[in-house]
Amino acid sequence: QKTIAILTSGGDAPGMNAAIRAVVRTALHRGIRVLGVRRGYNGLINGDMVEMNFLSVSDIMHRGGTVLYTARCPEFREDAGVEKAKETCIKMGIDGLVVIGGDGSYRGARDLSLKGIPCVGVPGTIDNDISSTEYTIGYDTAMNTVCEMVDRLRDTSQSHDRCSVVEVMGRKAGYIALNTGIGCGASVILMPEVECDIEKDVIDKIKSSHKTGKQHFIVMVAEGIGGVEDIAKKIEAATGIESRACVLGHVQRGGAPTVTDRVAATKMGYHAVELLEQGIGNRVVGMQCGEVVDYDILEGLKMVKTIDMNTVKIAEEVAL
Ligand code: ATP
Repeated sequence: QKTIAILTSGGDAPGMNAAIRAVVRTALHRGIRVLGVRRGYNGLINGDMVEMNFLSVSDIMHRGGTVLYTARCPEFREDAGVEKAKETCIKMGIDGLVVIGGDGSYRGARDLSLKGIPCVGVPGTIDNDISSTEYTIGYDTAMNTVCEMVDRLRDTSQSHDRCSVVEVMGRKAGYIALNTGIGCGASVILMPEVECDIEKDVIDKIKSSHKTGKQHFIVMVAEGIGGVEDIAKKIEAATGIESRACVLGHVQRGGAPTVTDRVAATKMGYHAVELLEQGIGNRVVGMQCGEVVDYDILEGLKMVKTIDMNTVKIAEEVAL
């Protein structure tokens, strides 16, 4: 009987549980044994894993986080760590591994694949910053959470004639900032992919809009830009509009996944098992034009994804 293992790694993301459920159920339906590895690559190194059955993944679809726990595992960045994990896989009779995580986790999967353990990566991160896929599990939920939070901030900004400078997650990418900026009606969106001058692109715009009667503003800032306290101070000093900074932080990572995330996670988890069932490893699963696809793991890691400049243009034109 074939045995596969599954782990979640890197930052947690809503929908990871839906992916775990899909992997476990699909595998069991096809007569494949599944081991759930706890705390990412740590569990693979230490042999911390448990056999999964239909009930182990019951009642988890709607939960945020990951029932398998997740971790960053510095040991796995070293060859000795990967070697230990390989030994565990051999000892436990693991024929293939599904890794749900971000591109750091993919690099780990690549290293283990190169040692002969077939791995399949499934994109799980709220940041949508994995190049081999147009969509990552957790992205939609995180954006909806941001919108809900910023709608609340907007009420206060509007009532007090204030400017809210909000920092959202995304690591080095501006996907969350751009799309939530549009969704929340931000006056200005700052993201690493687009050069910006605080004086010209933020302060001057706010000043001229203030003159025409607009009293409250939302400035959406990507994590990759940061410095929201400083930006708020500059805006207040230059415009006289009371400005407050808010870093949304980890609330963006939690909560029940949206339907979009549940469905994407289910489809991609299912696909990962289909690959391993056929003995195909060293792949990363992704979405392109709404369809599930897969690429060679090395090719996938080399791919480049860029932000849609037309969306940036639209965001700018409808803002102020
Ligand atoms: P997120 O986007 O949510 O942060 P991530 O998967 O990119 O997710 P990382 O912390 O970069 O998060 O990576 C998770 C784990 O993957 C690391 O703790 C480490 O065990 C492994 N990993 C990361 N980079 C490498 C690498 N270059 N080589 C081998 N393993 C790596």
